[in-house]
Amino acid sequence: MVMTFRSKTPQVDLNTHPIQQGALQLVPESIARKYIVIPLVVADGALKVAMADPGDISTIQVLEARARMRVEPMLASSADIRSCIDRNYKKYAEIEQQFEPVESGAAAVREQEKSLAEAVAEAPAVRALDMLISEAVKHRASDIHIEPQEDALRVRYRIDGVLQDTVSLPLSAHGPLISRIKILASMNIADHRPQDGQFSLIVQNREVNIRVVTIQSMYGQMSVLRILDKSFGALELPETGMLPGPLGKYQSMLRSPFGMILLSGPTGSGKTTTLYASVNGMDHKTRNVITVEDPVEYRLRGINQIEVNPKGGVTFATGLRTILRLDPDVILVGEIRDGETAEIATQAALTGHLVLSSVHANDTVGSLFRLLDLGVGAFYLSSAVVGVVAQRMVRKVCPHCRHFTQAPAEAQLAYNKELGEDRTEFSYGKGCPACAGTGFLGRTAVFEILAVSEEIRRLLLTGASAAQIRARAREEGMVSMWRDGMLKAKTGITTPCEVVRNVYCIE
Ligand SMILES: [Zn+2]
Repeated sequence: MVMTFRSKTPQVDLNTHPIQQGALQLVPESIARKYIVIPLVVADGALKVAMADPGDISTIQVLEARARMRVEPMLASSADIRSCIDRNYKKYAEIEQQFEPVESGAAAVREQEKSLAEAVAEAPAVRALDMLISEAVKHRASDIHIEPQEDALRVRYRIDGVLQDTVSLPLSAHGPLISRIKILASMNIADHRPQDGQFSLIVQNREVNIRVVTIQSMYGQMSVLRILDKSFGALELPETGMLPGPLGKYQSMLRSPFGMILLSGPTGSGKTTTLYASVNGMDHKTRNVITVEDPVEYRLRGINQIEVNPKGGVTFATGLRTILRLDPDVILVGEIRDGETAEIATQAALTGHLVLSSVHANDTVGSLFRLLDLGVGAFYLSSAVVGVVAQRMVRKVCPHCRHFTQAPAEAQLAYNKELGEDRTEFSYGKGCPACAGTGFLGRTAVFEILAVSEEIRRLLLTGASAAQIRARAREEGMVSMWRDGMLKAKTGITTPCEVVRNVYCIE
């Protein structure tokens, strides 16, 4: 009997099925969570609801009483339903409610008598900020931008590297929210000069670290909150997006007993993720791995991590000096940005340690010249460096709504020129509920990996130009970021437009 009923229940793919706002309003979030159901659409006087167990008559009765209409069950897995609830029942309406004007007059006067710190502590701002952060974590956002404008307070999330408007709050929310952020981040509330700070909190049972910057803009203090989810495990190298060829080349560099490996790219290019993945895959029992970072972004099992703290006297340079006394085999230095750190790191690499670090440079060859600029001698540099990696992030085509379609002419041309292949159609996302209509879901990196050969060492020593070194590296088989990106467009991981947009092309 039950079998017959089940076999008749249509199955629904929640990643692609549209969800009607009106249907959501018929079933409150608490009920949806309790019974693990999600309302989909109202059609022909009935509410279609996805359920993990469509044969559960009592749940259907509860829903029918709530919605005051007939309920047609559809089958979906409970995991899919849960993530669909997370995606669709937004808390934004609730956030806005926190700032609705309350009673005026006497209450407002009392409000003014309190000290600012008191008012903020009791506030709606406390709850509103908690909600903004927890929504951001839920939507995989990396940053929250809080920006006062002429008529409203704009809040935007950066998701998969792209800013998205999230909620617009009344301007009255601005002061309390910024004050709350400043209190949490141990900043001076009254000081309007640029400040930075950080705080940690538990969101959905995970420890989240938030780095805060505030600065004065035309309409008042704006703030950017960067979210670092410490409970996220570090990736394994293959998960970073390295294709098999470059991956093999990079892994053999990592097996060097000593020397220096540099990662380069602008902020947000994912180089920290690759650095972590590099030490994550090492054998920690036989190799003593120590890091000095600013900040510690992920906690790594079996690895000693030290955090830069300039007020406490720990800088990259002093941290690195201390580490060298702890008998390390592998040292990860978050970033080389001054001459002193560059010099100690190079010395360490020349005296039997494998040093991994990142530098701000556009590409692999640029990183070598960056170290020369920081005062490392060409002789030391050419002896120390084993290899250099440069990278950028590109968005991945959403797997739920991908289809083949014609790429814009400019992107076609770039692709054809690089791979020598006439092709007009590529994988693109149409936009669906799973990707919030963007056609993209998640990101991956494109890489350029330079292994420093004897010939490249010689070129460095003899003062060759960047162009000469780049040409030699290409001859030796280096795949540029541009080409790596186009290879990823070829297999539909990303689109040629994403590569054109994100990879700065040299020459
Ligand atoms: Zn999609």
